[in-house]
Amino acid sequence: MRKILHIDMDAFYASVEQQDNPEFRGKPVIVGADPRAGAGRGVVAACSYEARRFGIHSALPIGQAWRLCPDGIYLRPRFSRYQEISGQIMDVFREYTDTVEPLSIDEAFLDVTGSTTLMGPADRIGGKIKAEIRERTGLTASVGVAPNKFLAKVASDLDKPDGFVVVPDDGAAAFLAPLPISRLWGVGPRTESRLRALGLETIGDLATRGRDRLVADLGSGGGHLWNLAVGIDDRPVIANWAVKSVSNETTFERDTRDRDALVSTLRRLSDQVAARLRKKHLRAGTVTLKLRYSSFTTYTRQSGLREPTGDGEIIFQRVRALFDRFELDEPVRLIGVGTTRLTGADGPGTQLGLFADSGADSSGKLSDAMDRIHERFGNRALHRASDLP
Ligand SMILES: [Mg+2]
Repeated sequence: MRKILHIDMDAFYASVEQQDNPEFRGKPVIVGADPRAGAGRGVVAACSYEARRFGIHSALPIGQAWRLCPDGIYLRPRFSRYQEISGQIMDVFREYTDTVEPLSIDEAFLDVTGSTTLMGPADRIGGKIKAEIRERTGLTASVGVAPNKFLAKVASDLDKPDGFVVVPDDGAAAFLAPLPISRLWGVGPRTESRLRALGLETIGDLATRGRDRLVADLGSGGGHLWNLAVGIDDRPVIANWAVKSVSNETTFERDTRDRDALVSTLRRLSDQVAARLRKKHLRAGTVTLKLRYSSFTTYTRQSGLREPTGDGEIIFQRVRALFDRFELDEPVRLIGVGTTRLTGADGPGTQLGLFADSGADSSGKLSDAMDRIHERFGNRALHRASDLP
């Protein structure tokens, strides 16, 4: 059985605004065009749960929202801020699995099947991610844990906000049966009224009707709906990018509190990570320190870089600053350096495009890049040699 998580932030834009502006907390916050500046134009991009009590929801024309709740706090969206927080959330996901499929700025599927041996059962991983998001951003997420994507997505939505719903491996049919058919993917208003005309109200009704009759009712789409109704969904979680993170770590033969030894290990790991980044023509936007004490208590601390880098010295300086904040109450068992938010070495947006097109031009770019790397390795080696006593 696969272990799939669907994680969705609660009222994301509005929650970020409430987090950044404590005076907005507990109040109806509507993010979208300013209704006073352009009455009737634009729609609600997001609204807080307090605003929903007035009947406001996303995609509602902003003029209507204004009439429902004239005393609400109306804000224009700050996409770069939301993007920044989104990056922090995606970084949390990628600490638990490389198989992350973002669906939008604030939600993603994670396949954690391969993570359970090291990190414990999927529901525990889901709980840790939820707590970690809360700790790093102050925001709440709703989590669905299930054996496939469809079930996970339904589960995360069932108990919002701050939801946590687990569908057991053998519990799909029982979980789905009482839910209305509108919860099924692919059931729009038209299909819904056709199904209702057949007397089918719940997903359980659909499952009971059976595959053959549903195909007779609806055509080939009926088979697909029946699969979902009984909890069958084989679609894989597809990571949108082959390389999510580059990291190296070391477990010590004997646990240590020797700061100098730990710092020189961090330097070595930083250089190794940087060399791997350059080899893949990548730069990292975030640096992570991982530290595990002898009790197995593990900490990760992250630092965002203003400019993405493939430079070992820059990575080391960041990771060292993170390390200096630890008191080392216990001996250290493992230490690691990670990098995420990777972009192509030619700048953001190009990503892995360096190798994508063939021809004289790209091979020229490639050799230029190789030369630059050799240059940097050369400089690095000299620089490092001068550091030696
Ligand atoms: Mg959301």
